[in-house]
Amino acid sequence: MKTWQNLDELTLTNHYADLPASWYHAIEPTPLPNPRIISVNSMVAEQLKINPCSLDPQALADWLGGHTLPPGAKPLAMKYSGHQFGVYNPQLGDGRGLLLGELPVDGDYWDLHLKGAGQTRYSRMGDGRAVLRSSLREYLIGEALTHLGIPSTRALAVCVSSQKIQRERVELAATILRVSRCHIRFGHFEHLYYTRQFDGLKQLADYCLARYYPDCQSAENPYLAMFLQISQRSAEMVAGWQAYGFLHGVMNTDNMSILGETFDHGPFAFIDRWQENAVYNHTDQEGRYAFDQQPGIIQWNLSALGQALTPLVPIDDLKDALEQFTGYYETAYRQRMSARLGLATPQPGDDELIQRWRNLLAQHQADYNPLYRALSEAQQDDEGQPGLNHLDLAPWQIMLNDWLPQYRQRLQQESRHAADRRSAMLAVNPAYTLRTHVAQHLIDRAEEGDYQPLNDWLAILQNPFDEHPGFEQWRRAPDTKGLVMLSCSS
Ligand code: AMP
Ligand code: MG
Repeated sequence: MKTWQNLDELTLTNHYADLPASWYHAIEPTPLPNPRIISVNSMVAEQLKINPCSLDPQALADWLGGHTLPPGAKPLAMKYSGHQFGVYNPQLGDGRGLLLGELPVDGDYWDLHLKGAGQTRYSRMGDGRAVLRSSLREYLIGEALTHLGIPSTRALAVCVSSQKIQRERVELAATILRVSRCHIRFGHFEHLYYTRQFDGLKQLADYCLARYYPDCQSAENPYLAMFLQISQRSAEMVAGWQAYGFLHGVMNTDNMSILGETFDHGPFAFIDRWQENAVYNHTDQEGRYAFDQQPGIIQWNLSALGQALTPLVPIDDLKDALEQFTGYYETAYRQRMSARLGLATPQPGDDELIQRWRNLLAQHQADYNPLYRALSEAQQDDEGQPGLNHLDLAPWQIMLNDWLPQYRQRLQQESRHAADRRSAMLAVNPAYTLRTHVAQHLIDRAEEGDYQPLNDWLAILQNPFDEHPGFEQWRRAPDTKGLVMLSCSS
């Protein structure tokens, strides 16, 4: 077991820098003026075994502002390509983020990626920067998802600078230090495939096998085994999105991690009032990445990855593997939804019950997540019946009248005591999520220089199943009608 380390003692290693030089652009961050740390994620620090007392804000600001590098860092921008809105784009790569290196912790390596670090060879027309708005959104959603049990990249800290940058309006430049075991995207494989670097493709696949999928190395075709695991993890990730009403927004293949983690968060949203075909990204006019399209798009993205693996795996095997996605997804989704509805022992007919529930939510445009919370709290009746007269269910009673009899009957097949079901449901149905208007409120306050709400919410999102007195007003959907569209610019 590794002992705790102080921030100033961390030494990075760099396995990716040992791969062919044409796969990346080695470049140092471009310093930002007056960097200032506005939030530190002590849970991520703990995961990295960094002594919390050593997290000196000034030292961190020097790192995140691009003024100093941790010992051993060999910063680099990764080259990748990808399908954006279904169209292949060869011209991608880290245009504003740098992999600084990796931190070895207990036999694992954690990539440290500085997002907003300045221009690279892959910046195209971009300024290499990230604004405070998008940095805060990414920082917070990583926590919100992680604590719902949905895999996501996270970040150690957020830094704001005095530098002003132009988006739809002038905004402040910021950085986050993104932390994940992996920054390899589907697009890394696509780049090598479409440039016909098949030896390189094999080298990358071997690198991923050794590092992320060692169990697959002994399979008859290790690359196929790895593809199946990537499919399964991706299916589990998107099942989590669908069960909790999370919309990613830009599911391009360059935003897909080969670890099945939610990655490169942009115009994401939790759905407030239920709508199956919700779209929040205002550039997604055709609704390619609409909420109800997400599982199908993940499968499409996996087919793009599969295509890139054709030099390593027979195409028919890849096609068969791709067909397993639906099974992986349905299993994972059923598990998630059953847990949310308090169904511990699977029964025939559960899929139909869940589907009827979803239809009802859509028909009434229900405020999605609070309804599960209310349903959890209503599981008080000693006879295993939802306490229909429970105060919190009252606003939804008319809508639920259609469905509750079936649900009540179903609960009778459960052997678990209602009180146990209640606590199990309260542990998977959050009281708080990162709704769009909450994120906007935190951004507005941070832009005014008030970082307290941001840090209060960091703690709330890390404990979303607890009550947080004083924040109740943020539990409900806002009164605004229709969807608030989000900009892709970040
Ligand atoms: P994203 O929409 O953040 O997934 O980015 C898509 C591509 O555009 C990636 O290659 C990014 O590195 C690049 N990119 C996005 N914003 C910027 C920026 N401000 N400066 C340079 N490159 C950027
Ligand atoms: Mg991206």
